[in-house]
Order: sequence, then C-alpha cells, then structure tokens
Amino acid sequence: MRFDVVSIFPEYLAPLDLSLIGKARAEGILELVVHDLRSYTADRHRTVDDTPYGGGAGMVMKPEPWAQALEDISAVSAVSDGARPTLIVPSPAGEVFNQKLAYELAGEEHLVFACGRYEGIDERVLDWAASEYTVRPVSLGDYVLNGGEVAVLAMVEAIGRLIPGVVGNPESLIEESHSDGLLEYPVYTKPSSWRDHEVPEVLLSGNHGKIAKFRKELQLRRTSQRRPDLIDALDVSNFSKTDRNVLWDLGYAVVEGRAVRRDNE
Ligand code: SAM
Repeated sequence: MRFDVVSIFPEYLAPLDLSLIGKARAEGILELVVHDLRSYTADRHRTVDDTPYGGGAGMVMKPEPWAQALEDISAVSAVSDGARPTLIVPSPAGEVFNQKLAYELAGEEHLVFACGRYEGIDERVLDWAASEYTVRPVSLGDYVLNGGEVAVLAMVEAIGRLIPGVVGNPESLIEESHSDGLLEYPVYTKPSSWRDHEVPEVLLSGNHGKIAKFRKELQLRRTSQRRPDLIDALDVSNFSKTDRNVLWDLGYAVVEGRAVRRDNE
C-alpha cells in the first residue's frame, strides 16, 4: 500500500518514521512519501495562499500548486486497472473518521492526503481532482485544528496498523475498542495487588469462559456510561441471555434487535 502526503510543513510528518509505522516503512510493508507543496509553486516567494473571494478573514490555499502536486502523484500511481487513488482532504467539514472508515481505507491501494492550512484549499481543487481521484473530505472530529497534518498523522496510524504485517499480533486488532461496536474492557498487568488496588479476582481464575463473560459485561457497562450513542447504534440481535440481562440492568430493553432505553419505550 502506498501513502502520499502533501503539506507545506513536510517535517510535521516526521513521527511517521517511528514505531510500528516507521518499521513497516523500513520493511517495505507500506510506502509513504511526503511532498512539500511549496516545491510546486512557480514564484520567487513560493506562495501557496491568497485572499478569499467574497471577503472574510484569513487566507485560502491557491489551486495551481495543488493541481501540480496531485498531477505528479497520480502520474506515478500504480493502482490496478479500473481503480483510482483516493484523495483524502482533511477538513472539519468532512465525514467523520472512525474505525469503519479506517478499515475501508486500509483496503485501498493508494491514499493521497492533502493537508490544508489557513482557511483551507480552494474548493475547485476538489472538483478538478475528481477526474483522477476518488475525493473524500474527512474530519478527525468536531473541532478545528490549525492544519491537516495532525489529522493525517492520526489517520495514517489508524489505517496503517490495519495492514497485514504492521501490528505483530493481528489478534490484538480483533478485541479492540470499536471493532465490535463497543469500547474495549479495562486491562490489567502484574502485580495483581498494587497500592491497595486489586485486579478483579476472575481474571486470575484461569477460567476462560468466565473471563470472556466478565469482559463483555465490562464492555457493555463502560460503553453505556461513556458512549451511550454506541449502544444506540448496536445490533444486539445475536446477544446472549447474559448480555441481554446486563443491558436490562443498564436500563435497556431489547426491541427488534436494538437496545432501547427503557424510559423511552
Ligand atoms: N475554515 C475551515 C472550516 O471552518 O471548515 C477550517 C480551516 S482549518 C483552520 C485549516 C486546516 O486544518 C483545514 O483545511 C484542514 O486541513 C485542517 N483541519 C482543521 N480541523 C480539522 C479536523 N477537525 N479534521 C481534519 N482536518 C482538520
């Protein structure tokens, strides 16, 4: 899989040389190239921004350097016949990034990230790029960053770790938060007794059935407490009687495969 990142601060992406993503790059599992948008400018000042049409505060990124950069990248794209690279445009006005989207994007051959700065990129770039790319404006969440680089660091890490071979033990991807619509259960390590805080007894029992039940209960409790929106979105049609009892205890009834708050019934 190949990632290209275009930014006016290429050095911002240096952390992608570290840890598991850095190792995967070194081993050739994934290829990642960072491009300096300013090297696609034609003037002495290497200008990438200008004032907005229609007025308003801030500056807007000029379209031509983006077109030059994106043309160069699509020209060397090695996507298979009939496919096209995906252009991710980080933006607080995009669809919200989540684990489902990370899995979807991990299945692509070539992702290109266009890091905006200032008030963002001239909108015509997105329309123009649609002839060569599948264009997806994507938001990290409902808040505003100064630039797309931090969003790209997060997205490349979340997508990259789903590529086979990047994370040593693929099992660890299965039980994580958001993999089954729930938050992960709490985790503990040695010592079992630490500063008057004990590890839950059942985890020391060696009884795998009991441990699995206990962990699922904690997942449901934690999710309903911290992210009730995830419980609302859950398909519970295959839930066991035990899981349904936990939901009941948390104030939910199961109605047509969904967990419904009993006070809303
Ligand atoms: N004027 C824009 C708006 O209100 O939608 C915000 C521009 S922001 C200051 C500059 C750049 O930061 C954006 O072009 C985008 O690349 C990035 N950015 C800011 N917030 C983001 C978020 N929540 N998710 C992804 N990228 C974001």
